[in-house]
Amino acid sequence: MVRTRHDHLQALKTRDFDLLVIGGGITGVGVALDATARGLRVGLIEKGDIASGTSSWSTKLVHGGIRYLEQFDFPMVREGLRERHTLIRIAPYLVRRLSFLYPSKSGFAGKAYVDAGLWMYDLLAGRKALGLHRRVGRAEKPADAPMKAPWDRGGFTYYDSQTDDTRLALAVLLTAVERGAVAATYTEVTGILKENGRVVGVRARDLHAEDGADAGAFEVRARAVINAAGVWMDRVQRMDDTGIQARVVPSKGAHIVIPRERLPITSALIMPETSDGRVLFAVPWQGRVVIGTTDAEYHGDIDRPVASDEEVNFILRTANEYLRIDLTRSDIVATYAGLRPLIRMSGGGVSGGQDPGGQDAPGGGDDQLGTKDLSRNHVVLTSPAGLVSIGGGKLTTYRLMAHDAVEAALAATGLRAPRRANTSTLPLTGTPGYRELRGQTGPLAARYGVAPALARHLLDRFGSHAVALLELIAERPALGEPVVPGLGYMLAEALYSARYELVTTLEDVLARRMRLNLLDEDHGTGVARRVAELIAPELGWDDARVDAEIARYDDYARMAGSGYRHKAGDRDEAPRAVAVG
Ligand SMILES: Cc1cc2nc3c(=O)[nH]c(=O)nc-3n(C[C@H](O)[C@H](O)[C@H](O)COP(=O)(O)OP(=O)(O)OC[C@H]3O[C@@H](n4cnc5c(N)ncnc54)[C@H](O)[C@@H]3O)c2cc1C
Repeated sequence: MVRTRHDHLQALKTRDFDLLVIGGGITGVGVALDATARGLRVGLIEKGDIASGTSSWSTKLVHGGIRYLEQFDFPMVREGLRERHTLIRIAPYLVRRLSFLYPSKSGFAGKAYVDAGLWMYDLLAGRKALGLHRRVGRAEKPADAPMKAPWDRGGFTYYDSQTDDTRLALAVLLTAVERGAVAATYTEVTGILKENGRVVGVRARDLHAEDGADAGAFEVRARAVINAAGVWMDRVQRMDDTGIQARVVPSKGAHIVIPRERLPITSALIMPETSDGRVLFAVPWQGRVVIGTTDAEYHGDIDRPVASDEEVNFILRTANEYLRIDLTRSDIVATYAGLRPLIRMSGGGVSGGQDPGGQDAPGGGDDQLGTKDLSRNHVVLTSPAGLVSIGGGKLTTYRLMAHDAVEAALAATGLRAPRRANTSTLPLTGTPGYRELRGQTGPLAARYGVAPALARHLLDRFGSHAVALLELIAERPALGEPVVPGLGYMLAEALYSARYELVTTLEDVLARRMRLNLLDEDHGTGVARRVAELIAPELGWDDARVDAEIARYDDYARMAGSGYRHKAGDRDEAPRAVAVG
């Protein structure tokens, strides 16, 4: 198995591929796994880290989307619910059931409406339901849900699931890499290669190469190329056809992260009637609570969206309308925003659907609608030269998106896959053996001389790979120490990630293998040196590189758009620039 970035890059530069994927978000890594599982030779190119785009800024739910019932998009909700079931099966350590409280106020009509919606949700899930919803009275409602009147009269509990979005994307990619895929991060696709009017590969640039004319530039040849560049999809399409009309309608969603002590919930809470006609979630996640999200068309810089003052104020105001907690800006640990890559159809509407044949799927959108009313279905477009682009969709439905994109690429190029693939039965790396180990957490912990809670934490983040981390701790007990007291992460995780999880920069470890930018009060800056010095030997960093990585991480972590705590007066939509390289 190719392991280091250098080896992945060398393989990309020297091999021919059946299929090349542009973009290492959840969609691109899903495509890479689907195609690899079919026996194709697959390469993937990502200009940042894996999941450094939208796929790290989600609400982290794997769900059908209760909200989309109101849009009568039952097929999409059913699809999401089926995928939820599949992902819990193929990645049980990464995707877990979570209960939700949907509060109700007085009045029969409102309650009946919510009840009917939740019945529909259960019905659409069918045998794949995680448990039927049920009514909870005022006295019975979860004691930790501090709802304000008129939302304090109980409501309904129902079930969905949640994940860590970056680790999910990473696990999908690593599963593909274990099966032969090659993936280069911090490498940008700068052009599309064509011969006789057909796409035959890409031009790319290693963003960490030394300066100089053409530094780091190289070409990769592939029978099929899939553009999974998310909100950057138009830019890549224009490398193929400069005249192409803009398709992507970025829709921004903002979140805040607050300490669990301020809202000690064990179930997620829904705030169902926001002033912008949506719902807001408060979701317990990794020892904190994430509250979001908003949904509005975005016209700013797509490279680093920022939760604006207005959005942060909206979230605080809405939470305070529903909850007896009086949140203020000083409670906020981090804020973040992501861009949904919604797709505009050629008729002018914005919609989803699948279009393997090259024509837009029937509309369903309307330019007059706000982005919150737009479908989250995905779209596959094939250009006359054979470039396949996939956009829209959700984290939850990445597997289906990947399947459709690969099918379209096979159809466009006449490429034949050696075998059929069914990624719904392909466990992600870390899954084989996980359940057995999880059932034996006590004996496992005793074998390695660690506390059961520590073993449980590692199992729930790394699946059966936890054993490798326990071995590291057994060899060097100091690696069992927390990275940041109270946040659960251990130093062994940083070392393991640097060794086995396609890490190139300190930011990869602190912000995406762990999530210190979102969870730590100082966004990981206080532990940056300790972690950098620990992983330096693994990555061949000398002292100068360690200092440079720390300085660069410090810049990143203090930059709006990184999770940086948003204070009143921070400039709106105007993040500081940070250099990559
Ligand atoms: C606020 C918010 C909340 C959400 N919450 C949920 C949720 O709870 N559940 C859910 O199911 N979905 C959710 N979603 C939707 C989900 O997050 C997105 O649909 C999904 O992450 C998009 O993934 P992607 O791979 O298409 O895009 P991205 O993750 O953005 O990946 C595209 C990648 O392409 C790379 N790239 C671009 N151009 C190039 C180039 N030229 N060369 C090389 N690489 C390139 C980028 O660097 C990027 O990493 C949410 C979305 C938002 C915005």
